[in-house]
Amino acid sequence: MIQNIYPEVFYNQFRNDGRAAARDEDTVFAFCGRTILVRTDERGMLVFPSVREAKDVGLSDHLQYLFSICRDPEGEEHRFFLYTDYGADKESIILKLPFYSFEGMMNLRFLNPKDLCFAGMTAYHLYVWYRDNVFCGRCGEKTHTSEKERALVCPRCGNTIYPKICPAVIVGVTKGDQILMTRYAGRSGAGNALIAGFCEIGETAEETVQREVMEEVGLHVTDIRYYKTQPWGFESDLLLGYYCQAAPGEDIVMDENELSRAVFVPRNEIGQEDNDVSLTAEMIQYFRDHPEKF
Ligand SMILES: [Zn+2]
Repeated sequence: MIQNIYPEVFYNQFRNDGRAAARDEDTVFAFCGRTILVRTDERGMLVFPSVREAKDVGLSDHLQYLFSICRDPEGEEHRFFLYTDYGADKESIILKLPFYSFEGMMNLRFLNPKDLCFAGMTAYHLYVWYRDNVFCGRCGEKTHTSEKERALVCPRCGNTIYPKICPAVIVGVTKGDQILMTRYAGRSGAGNALIAGFCEIGETAEETVQREVMEEVGLHVTDIRYYKTQPWGFESDLLLGYYCQAAPGEDIVMDENELSRAVFVPRNEIGQEDNDVSLTAEMIQYFRDHPEKF
């Protein structure tokens, strides 16, 4: 999955010391809407602007430390910074850094190296939160960053705003040696999906599983089992993977607003998923490759 960057290790602890200082070789993430400033090198590998490049063209006055990635906690680390001039327009930045362009966030998913892809996605999640909380939602005052934790603080009313993470479930509904595969309506080129949806306020994740399966395909489920989680910064999500069994004797009633396809697919007809990025793909493969677990 996208977060599996071993042997690299992700460190997102809050820092407010020298280790949060930008060095020339560190990386700058600049976003505009759902796009990110990036280029690929001659080998097709992701390259983001360095702090040095940003400095050289006068773009280093607005940098916020995000996190670091390194192999050895005592060793050399790679620090990542957010460009926080959210009002800057794309053209003026491209004019200053002509080898780069703003590319759609989702294009990042299948590019290498994996640790940079994961870093870009995670930086995007933080960018959305920082950008959307420049002003206090309670009183409208401009917020500032806390000096003791990852939070934005309102100097007028004291409102403290922590990063927002939206939990959502991914559900593998099984029936004997079959798993329910879906396709989203209105998304051309979309691959196989599983039932998925956001947790509502006041709901347990297991209740979300029951509700989403009922809403999307009209089935009751039993034996809800936790599998794994995945941070999915593209949508500010934390994905919670569950398997469950379809109750016997019920027919699929598909929500056609949401889905264009919902069928139980036998294990021996499941192909090799062509990505090792998403929890959905891993759960489909896990069902295919581990009949003894179901
Ligand atoms: Zn306020």
